[in-house]
Amino acid sequence: MLEKLLLDGAQFDFMLEIFARTILMFLLILIVLRLSGRRGVRQLTLFEVAIILGLGSAAGDPMFQEDLPVIYGVIVLFSVIVFYKLITWLASRSDRLTRLLEGSAMVIVEEGMFDIEGNRNADFSQNEFFAELRNQSIEHLGQVRLALLEVDGSMSILKYDEANTRYGLPLFPNAHKAIDPRTAEPPYACMFCGNIASTLAATEQSCSRCHKDEWAKAINTKYIG
Ligand SMILES: [Zn+2]
Repeated sequence: MLEKLLLDGAQFDFMLEIFARTILMFLLILIVLRLSGRRGVRQLTLFEVAIILGLGSAAGDPMFQEDLPVIYGVIVLFSVIVFYKLITWLASRSDRLTRLLEGSAMVIVEEGMFDIEGNRNADFSQNEFFAELRNQSIEHLGQVRLALLEVDGSMSILKYDEANTRYGLPLFPNAHKAIDPRTAEPPYACMFCGNIASTLAATEQSCSRCHKDEWAKAINTKYIG
């Protein structure tokens, strides 16, 4: 059965051809990516991911499909790149088209608090945002004046200077945990949105901002770059 799975109908001649086709398509896709004008692929917008998927599929099939002449693959590759160039040219002239293709930057944190308006339907990714802030050495939300999620998935962060750092929700695991407010001194930070409760009484009701009721001990350490 394994033999059938691996070798059924395989022809030695064509195996050599696959080798040549693969190298050819690989070189072609390198040329096409150079023509696209991009410098690298660390971060991609959705539009670029779509283009890459199209390129990958067009380049992959002629590598091993005997009845597919390589020229078909070449035509698809160059069509995709012409389309890409055309759309990016149009997008450079129209902000509306750019937003339509790539979305727009999203506010994640504003004035030390998680933006619940913009993220109402995206709370599943809150952990991801917090991880990104930790990566940038942000210890708690009170250090952040503004954090934006850019369309390519990267995060842009403006920090408070030392004098303006406020109390905020801790982001690192040792301090990011729910406590019983009666067992610790105020202020407290809402575990969901980072809203600060400065008295014990304020925690007896749910969070005035997001109506959740889990609290962590707020901290106000300064940012150390
Ligand atoms: Zn809250």
